[in-house]
Amino acid sequence: MEDFNKAFDYIIVGAGSAGCTLANRLTEDVSRTVLLLEAGGKDSNPWIHIPVGFVKTLDMPGLNWRFETEPEPNSKNRRIPIPRGRVLGGSSSINGMVYVRGQPLDYDTWSQLGNRGWSYESVLPYFSKSENYESSDEAWRGKNGELVTAEGREKAELLDVVLDAAEQCGYPKNADYNSGDQEGFGYFQVTQKNGRRWSTAKAFLEPALKRPNLSLEINAHTLGILTDGGRATGVKFEQNGKTRTVTAAKGVVLCAGAVQSPQILELSGIGNPNIIRQYGIEVVHPLPGVGENYQDHYMVRQTWEIKKKITLNEQTRGVSLIREALRYAFTRRGIMTYPAGILAGFVRTRPEIATPDVQYHIAHASFKDVKKRILDKHPGMTISPCQLRPESRGSIHIKSSNPVEQPAIKGNFLAEENDRRTLIEGMKIAKRIASAPALKDFVAKELNPNEEIQSDDELLDFARERGNTVYHPVGTCKMGSDPKAVVDDRLRIIGMQSLRVVDASIMPTLTSGNTNAPTIMIAEKAADMIKEDEASLR
Ligand SMILES: Cc1cc2nc3c(=O)[nH]c(=O)nc-3n(C[C@H](O)[C@H](O)[C@H](O)COP(=O)(O)OP(=O)(O)OC[C@H]3O[C@@H](n4cnc5c(N)ncnc54)[C@H](O)[C@@H]3O)c2cc1C
Repeated sequence: MEDFNKAFDYIIVGAGSAGCTLANRLTEDVSRTVLLLEAGGKDSNPWIHIPVGFVKTLDMPGLNWRFETEPEPNSKNRRIPIPRGRVLGGSSSINGMVYVRGQPLDYDTWSQLGNRGWSYESVLPYFSKSENYESSDEAWRGKNGELVTAEGREKAELLDVVLDAAEQCGYPKNADYNSGDQEGFGYFQVTQKNGRRWSTAKAFLEPALKRPNLSLEINAHTLGILTDGGRATGVKFEQNGKTRTVTAAKGVVLCAGAVQSPQILELSGIGNPNIIRQYGIEVVHPLPGVGENYQDHYMVRQTWEIKKKITLNEQTRGVSLIREALRYAFTRRGIMTYPAGILAGFVRTRPEIATPDVQYHIAHASFKDVKKRILDKHPGMTISPCQLRPESRGSIHIKSSNPVEQPAIKGNFLAEENDRRTLIEGMKIAKRIASAPALKDFVAKELNPNEEIQSDDELLDFARERGNTVYHPVGTCKMGSDPKAVVDDRLRIIGMQSLRVVDASIMPTLTSGNTNAPTIMIAEKAADMIKEDEASLR
């Protein structure tokens, strides 16, 4: 074992959405030294930066941890892919780039659970602080932050018609679903700058690396946390085949994401003693909630055949593709700038529900084979519903003491009746929208599920057979004060000192939408709390 010949004030583990943001904020004061450790490498692969490259990086070895769940009991025992970024920027370097803050209800629920300072009113300034949004001067949007958010560069004829079809079904157009009122349909906003992905590595890390007080180590896989009498003193990591240790005078912050933050805790002896002992690891601090409370958005892709050649299925082939590649190279416009979902819809499946409970990702494209990412030959459209606030809970726990072995991810998706019911209703609404008058001249037929799959049982069976996640694992180191809480509302590991978790795993409940913006908000808020706690000790 070799010592890293320098001590730091803080060590941040993981340069993802949260880690890059936090590293930037903590090093604004040059007297504070920070070491950022990232298991992955540089973000130099061009497919990261060209938005359409999302399809390539979704399971690209080297850039992606390519996790998968254990066989899922409610999804026909399938192993469901759980991609995660393994590169500077973490999952923000491979994600679908859509920018969604969630609903005020999400954060007011966190506050209602007893987490002080996490109500919508309290977190809204942190969303705005990060943001640089040019398209509106509304009070809730930010103008001076590092995270460039924008309107998608391209619309599409078919999707404009879907907006009309949704309206005919009673779902209004919504010009800004990030206003605090999500309900309705509109184009997704994106984390892109001039038609290129704007990851947290680009937004927050690159500028901060110019500071002398930020050190970055890549290909540095954290193996565990060093502790002394209930206090975190540093970490042990592996780099280029060598195991090294490094110390932190003021604190260790885990930003390794919802799969690996609980894994690192368990490998360090922090977690449920029954699980930890099974693998011969000494229990340092019993904390039964570690790895519990896993939540994710379970989504079903529904596809239709389209009559007119106005979809990506044809535009991404042959001469058309060459034309689009040149267009992108010279103008940074065209189909290569599309995010993973192009049109967003947020609906209430029942009128008595206060706020939307289903989100749609909609694209004028359809996969023949999702796994191999082969598009249908004929024109197509996909509408993918997911329930926004699932009640099913899974877990993520180590299954060996080997830090490079992926933990056991158990989603337990669709375990709860309300999750099944909401998803079925979401699928039925998608079918209704596709058969609205506005789309009559466009839709040829339902593909998957086809016209014959109509009853609730058939739709549920289809969802079990084909469903996937939207790649939003959260909740495995949840914030709270109940017996299953892992961090308190200042994101400190309960019962320990100088150890925090700051990433998507601290969410007590999943936010109503995609999780990148909420994770960046969490890091923004954590930075202020860390600075406040430090000042109070002076
Ligand atoms: C394919 C995909 C598409 C998505 N699409 C969207 C979208 O369009 N919009 C949206 O809002 N959200 C999207 N998300 C979700 C969003 O990107 C994540 O919620 C968010 O990035 C999570 O941030 P994080 O900081 O918690 O974790 P991450 O960003 O995953 O960062 C964790 C980092 O820690 C590193 N790490 C892990 N273990 C170790 C270790 N032992 N040692 C050192 N480093 C380690 C990882 O390599 C990684 O860089 C998507 C996610 C994926 C994977």
